[in-house]
Amino acid sequence: MTSWVELKASQPVAMKMLQNSIIRDRIAHAYLFHGPPGTGKHEASLLFAMRYFCENKREDEPDPCYECNSCKRIQSGNHPDLHWIEPDGQSIKKEQIEYLQKEFTYTGLESNQKVYVIREAEKMTVNASNRLLKFLEEPSRETVAILLTDQIGQMLDTIISRCQRIQFHSLTDDHLYQQLIEKGLPESTSKLFAAMKLNINEALELHEDDWFAEARKIVVQLMDKVMNSSEEGYLELHQAYLKHFQGRESMGYGLELLLVWFQDIVSLHLDKRDSIVLIDQLDRLEKFHYVVSLSEAKSLIYEILNTRRKLAQNVHPTLAMEYLILKLQR
Ligand SMILES: [Zn+2]
Repeated sequence: MTSWVELKASQPVAMKMLQNSIIRDRIAHAYLFHGPPGTGKHEASLLFAMRYFCENKREDEPDPCYECNSCKRIQSGNHPDLHWIEPDGQSIKKEQIEYLQKEFTYTGLESNQKVYVIREAEKMTVNASNRLLKFLEEPSRETVAILLTDQIGQMLDTIISRCQRIQFHSLTDDHLYQQLIEKGLPESTSKLFAAMKLNINEALELHEDDWFAEARKIVVQLMDKVMNSSEEGYLELHQAYLKHFQGRESMGYGLELLLVWFQDIVSLHLDKRDSIVLIDQLDRLEKFHYVVSLSEAKSLIYEILNTRRKLAQNVHPTLAMEYLILKLQR
């Protein structure tokens, strides 16, 4: 079970809005949680419901107790006053909303309070939306609707305007970057780890590891040699690179590092300087981008990704890397 603290770390603004409405006792009749998949909308609705029904809730505390009968029933998915609506096939139909409303005319089993969560709310048919609208227009005091959607653009304005909107942001590179900066890592390293799409623990481990510091140097050397001449690149591959990057995991990191180089060359060509990751290598990048055209850089990115696939399919690492170096060579 995700806690507020965890959700707050990834969704600070959304969680603050939600917690404020709880603590200040200004709970809306309808919320719309919107944002990309995997950003915690489902978890937030569970936590909200737990806090709403919790038997030990404290006025100044947004967390539920997690331990009372109500909290436990929500965690195990069988609280009688928490209802979930999901698409039935391709859409959420009018009958599903009507059924829910009938349920609500009976008093709550545990209390008069009810919460209903509509997942993939953008899939409501027009009839279902209109039915829901009527419901939202005559809110009964203790009923809370939470609509979840990844596609707010597909929802009716009339519904959106009746909900308190809470936006969930994608857990982008930025989030990891900020976390690493807060942990005191240098800007260039934080940017690199974010670009490599590592998780925080992996990033912190690599940062402590001398192996990775050396790995960065070796990739710089390899890039220098490859840009110079074919023989030099091939020699460097065998003399240093393949000795350092052994085993699937470390080969993977090596490819990620190479990928970042060529993505940065693309960024330079497109004049997107804000996107450059290897800010400590700007001079080199400038030099390389005169040598490697935009379309070459793009096709080399393709080759690197292709090499990653080959390694996953158990192609011999030396062969796969030799082939890649041939492609990278100028
Ligand atoms: Zn509780």
